[in-house]
Amino acid sequence: MSYKEQLSIAGRFLTENDHFLVLNHVSPDGDATGSLLAMGHLLQTLGKTFTLANEGQTPRKLLFLPLSESILDLSTQELPPFSTVIALDCGDFKRIGDASRFIMENAQILNIDHHPTNDFFGTVNIVQTEACSTAEILFDLVKQMDIPLTEELAKPLYMGFLTDTGGFRYSNTTAEVMSKAAELLSCGVSPSDMAERCLETISKTYVQLLRLVLETIDVSFSGKVATLSATLDTIKEVDADSDDLDGLVNYARNIEGVEVGILFKEKDENTIKVSLRSKHQVDVGKIAKELGGGGHVRAAGCTINASLKEAKQMIYEILKQAMGEHDEHSN
Ligand code: 5GP
Ligand code: MN
Repeated sequence: MSYKEQLSIAGRFLTENDHFLVLNHVSPDGDATGSLLAMGHLLQTLGKTFTLANEGQTPRKLLFLPLSESILDLSTQELPPFSTVIALDCGDFKRIGDASRFIMENAQILNIDHHPTNDFFGTVNIVQTEACSTAEILFDLVKQMDIPLTEELAKPLYMGFLTDTGGFRYSNTTAEVMSKAAELLSCGVSPSDMAERCLETISKTYVQLLRLVLETIDVSFSGKVATLSATLDTIKEVDADSDDLDGLVNYARNIEGVEVGILFKEKDENTIKVSLRSKHQVDVGKIAKELGGGGHVRAAGCTINASLKEAKQMIYEILKQAMGEHDEHSN
């Protein structure tokens, strides 16, 4: 089925149903949040009723656009279950997390996502891996449905484009992405305001955390792999919340000569969230998938139920093979 056909099926899903539960993934990022808000505005335009929610808190810095105040944190709130659900930016059903307990057993699910590791868990699936962000798919959907691109809709869409392309720097920044982003700007989005809020501003806690986490740097595989660790003690010491940890992994990845940068976040003694980033060769999505996670070729993640030391060993074992393959290719 062509992408255009998928978009029209998704459009029908929205026009023919009502009373939607709109969800994004655990630890929502800018694309997840922007897409959630954009879908809210889209449904509002269609005169539908909806609930916007996810498991866990949305990073405070992302909560400045209209409808942000209506996003429910389902780790602390209860809801009656829904029979019509839209999942945004979720590579698999697990990414919905605990919020999935509000999805009825035979619910209709519209799965809109851009992760290559997506497992098509929806009743209707639009998985467009060429899109820079889930927000880009929603942009295409808005166009397909002939819905006017208002400022209210353009701002959260731009949030998704901006954050998932790392400020229009990553390899997913295509000419098409730029021309769509230009159209969003022409609707009244301020690029400097959005960049300052979503990308530039860092909390004081983040700076304290960065100082401690940088001390844990461990460079291996002849300088090609760099890891950082945020231990429970460190996280407690500076009283960091999950958005303070966002972006730390790039310090490992950005080091000259490093191909793979990794951040280990100790959630508890036996739960480690791993963020993986690569520069040119290594498919970190594949590595994350081997450990039950997923993501993209250059940015992926997984959660390992083991101690920090064990998790590190598990990743190193898989890396041995991935780095070996990479060396073979470069020979
Ligand atoms: P981050 O490291 O910033 O949490 O995530 C990087 C990318 O990998 C994002 O696109 C995110 O959606 C994906 N990702 C992170 N953790 C997981 C996971 O546990 N499962 C899956 N399927 N994807 C993940
Ligand atoms: Mn995304």
